[in-house]
Amino acid sequence: MRPTRLDPLFAPARSLPGVGPRIESLLQRLFGEAGADCLMRDLLFHFPAGFIERQRVRTIADLPADGVVTLTLTVERHDIPARGSRAPWRVTVADDTGSMQLIYFNPRADWLKKALPVGERRTISGRLEWYDYRAQIVHPDYIVTAQRAEEIPDLDPAYGLTSGLSARVLRKIIAAALERLPTLPEWQDSAILKERNWPQFTKALRHIHQPDDPRAALPLAPAWQRLAYDEFLASQLSLALVRRSLTRATGQKRTFAGVLHEKIMAALPYTLTASQKRVIGDIQSDLASPDRMLRLLQGDVGSGKTVIALLAMVAVAESGAQAVLMAPTEILARQHFSVIAPLAKAADLHVALLTGKDRRADRTTAQKAIAAGETHLIIGTHALFQSSVSFDDLGLVVIDEQHRFGVHQRLALSAKGRAPDILVMTATPIPRTLVLTFYGDMDVSQLHEKPAGRQPIETRIVSQERLAEVVSHIVSALAAGDKAYWVCPLVSESDVLDVTAAEERYNALSRDLGDRVGLVHGRMTSAQKDTAMARFRAGDIRLLVATTVIEVGVDVTDATIMVIEQAERFGLAQLHQLRGRVGRGDRPSHCLLMYKPPLGETARARLEILRETNDGFRIAEEDLRLRGEGDVMGVRQSGVPGFRIALPELHGELLQMARDEAQVILAQDAGFKSRRAEALRHLLYLFGRDDAVRLMRAG
Ligand code: ADP
Ligand code: MG
Repeated sequence: MRPTRLDPLFAPARSLPGVGPRIESLLQRLFGEAGADCLMRDLLFHFPAGFIERQRVRTIADLPADGVVTLTLTVERHDIPARGSRAPWRVTVADDTGSMQLIYFNPRADWLKKALPVGERRTISGRLEWYDYRAQIVHPDYIVTAQRAEEIPDLDPAYGLTSGLSARVLRKIIAAALERLPTLPEWQDSAILKERNWPQFTKALRHIHQPDDPRAALPLAPAWQRLAYDEFLASQLSLALVRRSLTRATGQKRTFAGVLHEKIMAALPYTLTASQKRVIGDIQSDLASPDRMLRLLQGDVGSGKTVIALLAMVAVAESGAQAVLMAPTEILARQHFSVIAPLAKAADLHVALLTGKDRRADRTTAQKAIAAGETHLIIGTHALFQSSVSFDDLGLVVIDEQHRFGVHQRLALSAKGRAPDILVMTATPIPRTLVLTFYGDMDVSQLHEKPAGRQPIETRIVSQERLAEVVSHIVSALAAGDKAYWVCPLVSESDVLDVTAAEERYNALSRDLGDRVGLVHGRMTSAQKDTAMARFRAGDIRLLVATTVIEVGVDVTDATIMVIEQAERFGLAQLHQLRGRVGRGDRPSHCLLMYKPPLGETARARLEILRETNDGFRIAEEDLRLRGEGDVMGVRQSGVPGFRIALPELHGELLQMARDEAQVILAQDAGFKSRRAEALRHLLYLFGRDDAVRLMRAG
């Protein structure tokens, strides 16, 4: 049950004065939780985007050149526009030093005449403008009688709004919510608070909404940092609790002597890099330990993750269980299958492919063999997790190139086996600061080096206007034996966006290059896609025009040229992924980023980053800096909930700290019996981590 001290924070906004049904529905819209009440907590977690400083000015003669001003004046005259005229309503106000105007468009006449009666003094505040050498304020923010001048604040928080909800109304509501803040037990360690000079929770919220100095409400000021840390700690503690319940209850110790591993090694045409050896070592010891494996493998494009997946799967197979490898696209699943099948054969393992597009009879046979345990390794797409697929003994799930799952969904995959070990592999270089956000409390391995002999990719930025030159360059490169990709932003489904259609480009290039050009896009059938990829791999096709279906994972080692049209429309991480399709062999590779002029300054800066570096981590961090957190991962679309208070790109360091602290808390007080544990329960509820509270007792 929720601690009663939190009740005021969970009271609906409608319990505040001035919040009727109309305002309430606007607040619900603003906070965006369908069907849910807007709570006091939501109001308080809605931080100001900035502050308006109101400058008090004595007389009209003292007015500054611009800014928001507050001053006391006498109302002289109303100039009311003629009926049907579009002119504004002008009120002339004056003092001994001069006069100025207040401008209103379509005001409510009776209200305005009452608010500004001729001959009386009023204190007025609003943004100052100059028009024809004359000062004016359009729609002042405040009008009060001169006696009440002090009621106009010198500093006003500016909140994100929704249409129909005025800044003034929202300010009032949030100020009222602040008054009802209860005192809460301190859940943070007093040593940290002291060291960082962080205020208490309630004080911190006051600093944010009503600071004495606007600088005290900035994201890196102590108040915001403390609240961001609260949020991080709530999330890390809940993830740690979930993890504890998983690893504890269900771990399996796997035994394998490494015989099959050796067979694979003997069949591989190369030797592993030092990074690959280290990572597979980490994984093998996870598998051999009684704890359940929850590991994230990060490796830049081309770093050789597939073979790691295979070796992990082989170890599990040798222990007598089954392993699956799940890919995000069908093309990729097929590619994995074609790489893995011959190697698995060398180890006498039986492999199956399941993509959801298989012929029914084939599928039935495959499913039977899987259910009977005759198939050791299974490769596929999401189809693997349909209810018709059952396993004899699923021991390992490898998820490749997948970052569109939330932590909890991923954990739900467990249901298919008796707590299988989980390995998530991602080539999307997630900045260090965000790993925890998206993957939660997983162990992380990184592949830092690329296989030896790789040539750097030379990247150039070229205007679309030089298309003819680019084409003739490609023609001669292909004649010299190169293979190239040509990527177009979308299939021709959105004419609105003026996107170069892949089909059109394919037709145009075919005129120059004949039947050496192929096409692959997401609307083709899988057989068509397969054929196109196979012909490109075999070299019948030497130029493959494609949409972003080739973005992830596609591996054709002798492709050396990547052309990307309208590169400015892609995310940096995505461009890096695409570029990673080349530079996989021992021949030098090129990437041409074409843009449609004019190219803005930021857009150019983004493309320059790609030209300068090939380091996926750096690119991801820059992308984050330029575009903000959500876009990098496509989170907004995929609905992974972000943080409400913390800004991972600014507070990243605190996330790591919170993770460490969550571990310490669990280690010191596993059963959550201490006084602090009681306070931490408040924290978890406050940030909507109620589920985790249940797991506290399980300690
Ligand atoms: P990614 O990490 O992008 O998934 P892949 O697993 O597709 O990378 O590997 C990219 C290419 O590098 C493949 O052609 C693979 O066979 C090759 N490769 C992997 N490891 C090595 C290695 N140690 N030495 C040489 N080539 C390797
Ligand atoms: Mg891959």
